[in-house]
Formats: sequence, C-alpha cells, structure tokens
Amino acid sequence: MSEPTHTPTAAGSPRIIAWCAWHKDVADGVRLIQVDEQGSGAGGVRYACLDCITTHHLVPFADREAGR
Ligand SMILES: [Zn+2]
Repeated sequence: MSEPTHTPTAAGSPRIIAWCAWHKDVADGVRLIQVDEQGSGAGGVRYACLDCITTHHLVPFADREAGR
C-alpha cells in the first residue's frame, strides 16, 4: 500500500529572506512584524528573525490580525 510520505512542515510560515530591523542584518525566515500606516516617511514595514521575535517578545503581524 502507498503511504503518504508528505511531511507537513510549517505549512503556514513561508520563508522570507529580508532585513531584520532588530539585529540589523539580513536573516532567513523572518516574519512581518509591524506595518505603520503613516502618510509621511518610508520604511513602515519591519521584519524580524525568529531569534529576535523570541528575544524581544514580538508578535508577528499576521498573528496580531488573527487575534482580533
Ligand atoms: Zn533578528
């Protein structure tokens, strides 16, 4: 018989390589943390790597939306 060999590994978390605004470096697997919708200025979007999320007790933007 055929067994399903597909292992569900973190299906809901796509890997993004981006600038971590907390430790100021490029990181693999960052999460979108904050979106500032202010009319002036740029850079309202901040990403943080998993280490910084844990260290600074950050709440990913997607999780925050779901909590409402
Ligand atoms: Zn970081």
